[in-house]
Amino acid sequence: MATLEIRDLHVSVETEQGPKEILRGVDLTIGSGETHAIMGPNGSGKSTLAYSIAGHPKYTITSGTVTLDGENLLEMSVDERARAGLFLAMQYPVEVAGVTVSNFLRTAKTAIDGKAPSLRTWVKDVRGAMDALKMDPAFAERDVNAGFSGGEKKRHEILQMELLKPRFAVLDETDSGLDVDALKIVSEGVNRVRENSEVGVLLITHYTRILRYIKPDFVHVFVDGKVAAEGGPELADELEANGYDRFTGASV
Ligand code: ADP
Ligand code: MG
Ligand code: MG
Repeated sequence: MATLEIRDLHVSVETEQGPKEILRGVDLTIGSGETHAIMGPNGSGKSTLAYSIAGHPKYTITSGTVTLDGENLLEMSVDERARAGLFLAMQYPVEVAGVTVSNFLRTAKTAIDGKAPSLRTWVKDVRGAMDALKMDPAFAERDVNAGFSGGEKKRHEILQMELLKPRFAVLDETDSGLDVDALKIVSEGVNRVRENSEVGVLLITHYTRILRYIKPDFVHVFVDGKVAAEGGPELADELEANGYDRFTGASV
């Protein structure tokens, strides 16, 4: 079994007032085939965790480790992380001017596999995946994220996940800005990948809504830059009923 292991991770960002510690000792182990939900209030550091795993230059790892099957992920370039099988869907995906979705996907696939996919199966795979996500074929010829609606961005992320077949996927607020129909389509896409592969998923969310469609095996409550509580799916139900107050120490 493959594992993505985060040990005592401390991360700072540079602010005008100097460095500010945001992650304060995160411990998390995700095995292949497992889905872990990270749930927490706004500002608790969930996206910082995603960006740190991604290797975003703005986030400085001050201590701790992140390993994929024992390999030090933090020493890898962003490309190497992708080749190692890591997939990251960011809360705020960037525009890539002049690169169509179709070219972007094929370039990414080629980079990750180390060889270009066979054109015939590739075209079929892309069509099939777009179809399943109820995406208009014309979408493939648009520039990446240029003028994409919130829902299109999320579908595009899941399209990438379906085609790139990662070993571990970090999905940051994949549910944000989606209406119920879009949420269902996107969730079904994630579930297809889960069924068809041994992907390990780190599903980051503020709301419990998406967990009705994507059932997590484990739930971690994230507060103030670290994991404050852990449990099974029942923990998400409790959060839905009672919110985060019990974990943040706020008075009810
Ligand atoms: P979440 O995703 O849980 O809402 P974030 O990781 O986005 O939380 O943010 C956690 C905290 O770190 C917030 O207080 C936020 O303002 C701060 N933060 C995150 N990124 C930066 C940055 N680049 N510069 C300054 N502060 C940041
Ligand atoms: Mg700890
Ligand atoms: Mg966030």
